[in-house]
Amino acid sequence: VKVLKFGGSSVADGIQLEKTRKIIESDPDRRYIVVSAPGKRFEVDNKVTDLLYLCKTHMDQNLPYDQLFQVIEDRFNAAKMNLGIDVDLQKHFDVILQNMKNGASADYIASRGEYLSAVLVAAYIGYDFVDTAGLILFDRKGRLLAEETNRALSAELSKHEHAVIPGFYGSDRETGEIVTFSRGGSDITGALVSRAVNADMYENWTDVSGFLMADPRIVKDPRPIDRISYKELRELSYMGASVLHEDAIYPCRVENIPINIRNTNQPEDPGTIITAEEETSEKIVTGIAGSRDFTVIAIYKNMLAAEKGFVRRILMILEDFDISIEHMPTGIDTISVVLADSAIDGRLDEILEEFNAQLKPDNIEVFEDISLIATVGYGMNRRAGVAARLFTALADAKVNIRMIDQGSSEMNIIVGVENGDFENAIRAIYAAFS
Ligand code: ADP
Ligand code: MG
Repeated sequence: VKVLKFGGSSVADGIQLEKTRKIIESDPDRRYIVVSAPGKRFEVDNKVTDLLYLCKTHMDQNLPYDQLFQVIEDRFNAAKMNLGIDVDLQKHFDVILQNMKNGASADYIASRGEYLSAVLVAAYIGYDFVDTAGLILFDRKGRLLAEETNRALSAELSKHEHAVIPGFYGSDRETGEIVTFSRGGSDITGALVSRAVNADMYENWTDVSGFLMADPRIVKDPRPIDRISYKELRELSYMGASVLHEDAIYPCRVENIPINIRNTNQPEDPGTIITAEEETSEKIVTGIAGSRDFTVIAIYKNMLAAEKGFVRRILMILEDFDISIEHMPTGIDTISVVLADSAIDGRLDEILEEFNAQLKPDNIEVFEDISLIATVGYGMNRRAGVAARLFTALADAKVNIRMIDQGSSEMNIIVGVENGDFENAIRAIYAAFS
């Protein structure tokens, strides 16, 4: 059994849907299909999910949104007409509009792109449509209930030889209300389905021929990665390599289901295979990924190492602000915390005030507008001098390093650089290790 997930570009219009159908039909094992909402058809186009969020914004501001929703209807209707699909979409549009009039939640509205996409694709390829509301289950805090979900999905899917399943959402176990994952969450749905049907392979079909050593929007023609371990991939996904959602890895890893990233526009390419195998290549660095907009707060205090409970107090202060720490590099008399600007949410002064009041440090230094870049690879702990090579490459590119952290394992070095140096730094590291 193979589970396939098709991303937004693979279901963007009739032309893409035809490619998708050919891929599914070319292998009888391809029995469970997870679909995203239609993505962009060309550079300046909108993603259906973005249009849906815009509808919600208009709703909240009492602005008209029916023309906006009409644009969405038109996109689905055009694909339906182009491919001659026999399906009544109008009845679904009517239900959605009615729910919007009754003040539907943002999650419900946002999820309708995947819902409609799955209805359309199911009719097109003749598979059953299986909704995930009531199968993918969340608690009241919006956290996935992984084991219950696995049981519910497994029981339902065993009744269907073939199914098309909408990505991105499930429902609250108690209220039944729709709950979405974060953006890119259809990858998670595909992984949950793979686990539930005990798939032999999870194929994730997108618009690139697999994982590349670096973001192709930053590095020109980066080398493709043939094989990579779950662990390395998780580090890269977490750090911003957006090809696969970071939470899509766990459900496959527990059942040892290989993930294959493939290109819908070039289905003959083998793509990237992700497995538990740890040392899969001769290369030192497997991949480089990063993201922008962090703040580093460095806390200095003499004899800090001797002071008990210091780290705990830092964590407690941040917990009161409901902020989780991205990284916490430590020195002899310093501890730094790296926080996402989105988590700080304009409260930096208040946080510093609490640090000063409760920790009584000798000094606090703040570095704003920082990007984090992770260089990942099992080869890194096999060879000496990797770190030196990385820092030399950055120095030669005139990039100032604001922070260094050895990541969660020896196969990961994280550097903090100024946002303005982000792309240069990635290019320099890539050039040093490719
Ligand atoms: P989908 O809609 O199919 O889920 P995404 O846009 O989420 O596709 O992910 C694919 C995109 O990820 C690629 O088009 C590419 O621009 C981007 N990307 C970022 N980092 C990498 C990388 N290391 N390798 C390949 N693609 C990357
Ligand atoms: Mg994606």
